[in-house]
Amino acid sequence: MRSKAMDIFKEAASTIYNSEVAAWKERGGKVAGYFYPAVPEEILTAAGALAFGIRGTGSTGTELADAHFLHLSCSSTRVTFEQILQGEYKFLDGAVVFNQCDHLRRIYDNWLTVPENPCYAFIYLPKKCDALAREFFEKEIIQFKKKTEEKFGVVITDDMLKEAIVLHNETRQLQRKIYELKKLPVPPISGADTMAIMLAATAMPRYRYNELLKEMLLELSEQKPDLSAENKKRLLYIGSHADDIKFMETLESQDAIIIVDDTSFGYKAVEGEISTKGDPLQTIIEYYFYTRAVTQRQFGTLDKRLDRIAEIIKTFRIDGVITARLTECDQIAFEQFILTDFFKKSNIPNLNLEVEYVLDSVGQLKTRVQAFLETMEEV
Ligand code: SF4
Repeated sequence: MRSKAMDIFKEAASTIYNSEVAAWKERGGKVAGYFYPAVPEEILTAAGALAFGIRGTGSTGTELADAHFLHLSCSSTRVTFEQILQGEYKFLDGAVVFNQCDHLRRIYDNWLTVPENPCYAFIYLPKKCDALAREFFEKEIIQFKKKTEEKFGVVITDDMLKEAIVLHNETRQLQRKIYELKKLPVPPISGADTMAIMLAATAMPRYRYNELLKEMLLELSEQKPDLSAENKKRLLYIGSHADDIKFMETLESQDAIIIVDDTSFGYKAVEGEISTKGDPLQTIIEYYFYTRAVTQRQFGTLDKRLDRIAEIIKTFRIDGVITARLTECDQIAFEQFILTDFFKKSNIPNLNLEVEYVLDSVGQLKTRVQAFLETMEEV
């Protein structure tokens, strides 16, 4: 899709220091880096900072980063740290990391050794979902808020938090409309464009993003459906690596469209909202602990995860599922193993991919997707 808003979203999704961030910095704005929405971005927004999702976009290798990690670390981790060492994140005024996995947390340890690094907080997210874990999480978030106040020299009041909650809820409502359009028999927007829209939310000032997304939704409502797309296979994408728009385009380069995904900054980010009633810090904690979809990082959540995937497949009328993991990513490897069995029992066509963050075999990838689509024809 071509439009002014889409061009801006694509630029934000396919670069690191994009023109929206540059304009924000020129106006004296602060930028806080974080790793996708497991970190409560509302607290960063309330502190007046632009919350920027850190990723490895644009890197072609890991020459510098390789000296800091075991070669068994996933390529997303190494590529992201390469961009840090190459100075691509010098514009950050602060950075917060969390314990997604042992690979990601090493970014924090290594970043601390870099002179003038922006790291100021590390959040330990509990692996369990019980009352004790809720109590622990609350303490972590209170501590994170305090550190953010110190870092940016502000006192974050309840009113500031409430304003941030309303702003981020508006983003969720607007983005949900994009996913609603994907339920149509002929969706007006591709999966790659959808991911660019979702990723751009983590890479530009939030007010500006919401205004652009409103413009785009208006344009989409006036667009005539492309009927040639009617017979495309409707796919669900699960896994890592979705922050490379070219990767998503490759998956869709034949007769298929990614209708919906199960990524942290994608569909997971639009499910549910933060309550605007009550103590705002508590409602943020409730949302991040209870409302957001559970992940494989959390123990005892398998049934919930499978029920949710089954519901997504039904709601979006999915024909098949592509899962992808980065080599060395044990979390997604176990998830792929479990899901393969689940899809087999549920009679849902499924393709499992193993890829590297820097795509080096687009032709091979296309061949595998083509073969998968052909087997779906035979079913
Ligand atoms: S891709 Fe897997 S191993 Fe790498 S940071 Fe993400 S969860 Fe961790």
